[in-house]
Amino acid sequence: MSEFTNLYAQVAACQKCALAQGRANAVPGEGPEDARILFIGEAPGFHENRLGRPFVGAAGQFLEELLASIHMRREDVYICNVVKCRPPNNREPLPNEIEACRPYLDRQIELLKPRLIVTLGRYSMVRFLPKASISKVHGVPSKVGEVTILPLFHPAAALHQPKYRADIEQDMLKIPQILAQMDGIAEAQQQEQQVKQLNLF
Ligand code: URA
Ligand code: SF4
Repeated sequence: MSEFTNLYAQVAACQKCALAQGRANAVPGEGPEDARILFIGEAPGFHENRLGRPFVGAAGQFLEELLASIHMRREDVYICNVVKCRPPNNREPLPNEIEACRPYLDRQIELLKPRLIVTLGRYSMVRFLPKASISKVHGVPSKVGEVTILPLFHPAAALHQPKYRADIEQDMLKIPQILAQMDGIAEAQQQEQQVKQLNLF
């Protein structure tokens, strides 16, 4: 059993907060275990709770359209949420629920080691950029430790609000640029290493 499968089983059986009572299915997250990009939303909604999969309702459809705009499919990235069980009536997750669920997200990040984390909405952004205001930093990548964080508006909010929608569409286009820059840096470091090795002889 992979470490991810192990984690999914733990989440499915978790009773650490009150959200366990109302769930039909926990929604641990999904995606390739070697994905370079991790998308983090807020919490499962109605459809996610029914199916046990993240972003499968209207917000998910929009997320897939946004991914298509950069020639990616949802299968290419890892997708999860800050809390893994649906809050009643889609209310916002409470601080104690976020805290109880935190080790699962921590473990996902530790296992995946993503190069880029794209946060969807405020709840996942504050996990990495506690003091940031999303209206200021959306679309602005920043380095937190080894990983690059790109905050986006939440697709569920952006879907029906033309201003946010234009922003999220623009911000999404930064992803290929960020990846290309990362690859450029990695290549330059490799070349530098090769030059150093050559100089040894
Ligand atoms: N909104 C989220 O934040 N996450 C989902 O999985 C679906 C909708
Ligand atoms: Fe456990 Fe997280 Fe679900 Fe709460 S939301 S029961 S901490 S998996």
